[in-house]
Amino acid sequence: MRYCTRCVYPETSAIKMTFDEEGVCSGCRVAEEKEKINWDERKERLRQILEKYRSKDGKNYDCIVPVSGGKDSTFQTYLIKEVFGMNPLLVTFNHEFNTRKGIRNLANLVEKAGVDHIRFTPNPKLIRKLARLSMRKMGDMCWHCHSGIFTYPVQIAVKFKIPLIIWGEHGWSDLAGMYSHNDLVEMTQRCRREWGLRGFEASDMVDNEEGISMEDLKPFTYPTDKEIESVGVRGIYISNYINWNAKKQTEKMIELYDFETAEQERTYNCYENVECFHCGGSHDYLKWLKFGYGRATDHASQDIRLGRMTREQGIDMVEKYDGKRPSDLDIILRYLGMDEEEFVACVDNMRDPRAWGKNDKNEWYLKDPVGNHRNDPGVEDVRLPVKERNDFILTSKWKEDKHVLM
Ligand SMILES: [Zn+2]
Repeated sequence: MRYCTRCVYPETSAIKMTFDEEGVCSGCRVAEEKEKINWDERKERLRQILEKYRSKDGKNYDCIVPVSGGKDSTFQTYLIKEVFGMNPLLVTFNHEFNTRKGIRNLANLVEKAGVDHIRFTPNPKLIRKLARLSMRKMGDMCWHCHSGIFTYPVQIAVKFKIPLIIWGEHGWSDLAGMYSHNDLVEMTQRCRREWGLRGFEASDMVDNEEGISMEDLKPFTYPTDKEIESVGVRGIYISNYINWNAKKQTEKMIELYDFETAEQERTYNCYENVECFHCGGSHDYLKWLKFGYGRATDHASQDIRLGRMTREQGIDMVEKYDGKRPSDLDIILRYLGMDEEEFVACVDNMRDPRAWGKNDKNEWYLKDPVGNHRNDPGVEDVRLPVKERNDFILTSKWKEDKHVLM
C-alpha cells in the first residue's frame, strides 16, 4: 500500500488523490498553495462578490449561510455578519443525529450573532428508513444528512429569492487536493451529487421495501435548472478567499461566541463533529472498514501540513485512534434494528482489497498499516518544523441548567 511521504494518507483515500514523483499526495500539494496566495487580494475579491449581492433596498436577506452549529458554520456566520457587515439568513437542515452540545452550540450561535434562522426537521420516520436503505446501498447511514445539507439551503435560496449561498470549506480540496485554490471552484449540483451524495440522487432512494416514494423525498430534491437560473443561485466556498485554519478559527469562536468543544473517541481533535453523534463515530468507523483509515488520519494529515505535528507523531495518532470501535455504534444499531454482524457485513463487498485481506480464520485484517511506513524512502519528516501549537482546547463551560432555545 502506498502512503504519502509527507502526511499519513493512504492511496485508498475515499476522495481520489494523486501522488507525484516525490511520493507527495495532491492534498499536501494543494495545501502548499496557501503559503503563496495573496490572501489580502482574495479577501478583497470576496468583498466585491458580497457587495454585488447585498440587498439594495434592504427588503431581502443579503445571502444564505447554511449552518449546523459546528465550528465552521459558526465562523462563517461571524465572518459574514461581523467582518463584512452582511445580513445573512441562517439555514439548518436537521439531520436528527444531534448531540445536546450541538443543539446548544446552534442555539447559542443564533443568539450570539443576532440573526434570523430557519431550521428544517424532516419526517423522523422517513429518516430512519433512509438511514437503513443507505446503509444497505452504500454502506453508510448518513446519505440523508449529506443530501439534506447540500439541498435544503438551495431550496430556500430559490423560495426566498436569495441568490448567494456562502458555503464554508471545500473539504475535498483541503483533504485530498481535488481542486486548486486557484480554480475558485463553486458549489454545483454535480459536485453535490458526485461527492456529497456518493452518486445517489433522491430518485435513487425510492424503495418499495422501505416504503419510500418520490413524494416523501421533497427535502432531498434539488431545484430544477430553470428555478436555479430564475434566481441566479450561486454558491461560493469561503475557503477560496480566506486562509482557512479551522483550529485558529475555532479558538476565536470559543473566545468570541462561547463555542463548545467535546472530547472525541476516534480522534485527538476535540472541535470537529461536536454536533453529531455518528459523524466522528460509526460513520467514520465505516470509512475505516472500507478504506482502512479514519478521522485521525484526516486530522493528522492536516496538522502535519500546517506544521503542527511531525509525520512520526501523526502515525502515533493514527495507531491510537483509527481502528477503535466507537460507543455510538450501539445507538445506531438500535436505531437501524440491526446487530453488529449485520452492520459490518453491509460493507463486506466494499472493502478496498489494497487495504484489507482475510487471514486463515476468515477474519479481516489490515494488510499494510501506516506504521509500516515510518521510514519509507523520501519521507520528509525531519524537514517539517513544528510551527504551531498542537494542543486542542477542550471546553466545558456549558451546564445542563443553562437555557437552550431550541
Ligand atoms: Zn500528503
